Amino acid sequence: MAGFKTHITTSTCLGVAYGATAFTCYDVPLPACVLAAGLGGVSGMLPDLDSASGVPKRESIAFAAAVVPLLLAERFKRMGMEPEYIVLAGGAVYLFIRFVLAKILTHFSVHRGMFHSFPACLIAGEIAFLLCGHENLWEHYFNAAAVMMGFMSHLVLDEIWALDFSGGRLRFKSSWGTAMKFWGESLGSNLLTYALLAVTTLASLGDPAMMHKNPAADTAAPHQVATQPDGTEQSALPQDAEQVATQPDNRDVR
Ligand SMILES: [Zn+2]
Repeated sequence: MAGFKTHITTSTCLGVAYGATAFTCYDVPLPACVLAAGLGGVSGMLPDLDSASGVPKRESIAFAAAVVPLLLAERFKRMGMEPEYIVLAGGAVYLFIRFVLAKILTHFSVHRGMFHSFPACLIAGEIAFLLCGHENLWEHYFNAAAVMMGFMSHLVLDEIWALDFSGGRLRFKSSWGTAMKFWGESLGSNLLTYALLAVTTLASLGDPAMMHKNPAADTAAPHQVATQPDGTEQSALPQDAEQVATQPDNRDVR
């Protein structure tokens, strides 16, 4: 199988290319591009969270414990939480990931189990979608796609490393087919994975950002629409559109 360095180097290159393309070709704001590039890079080691020990797992847990509370802070703020409570909630999330989640991973994961699978890739993307605190729907998709790209690069590399070209002949190692799969050998893991996929899918569909699906709301004046707490986005729209029309050179590309 491909080593940690191969995985992280590939996903980092892909992440940087992804962010750079979005920035140069699609006018995506720089902070969003940098975040997506970072997420894509880190996601290259996610599938190996299932290895019982080692660098990928230790680094991933530590990184997630530090970054997830930061990503959630924006969401907590929009939920109307006081700054003190945001700090407390961030600390609680850190402790949960660092100790509880790390223990669960150690106990229940088998290497090359369902962490190396298509549904796991989708779950990782949907978690990124949910962690994104931004009110613009496209940014949720943007981050989710970055994570899924990094994740998939890992699965593809693991499968390439399962090919053996020695002696001028192509042979398949025993690990071939264990990275890119829809289900594994353990029925319990399969059920758990698809149950988790259902939960993250339902949560993503119910995400507040999904309520702002109107393209005009997304591209014209997202900040104004989001400030209507009583659901009056509809009435705010014509006014937003008018403002945009009168300021053609003041486009908000977000
Ligand atoms: Zn792997």
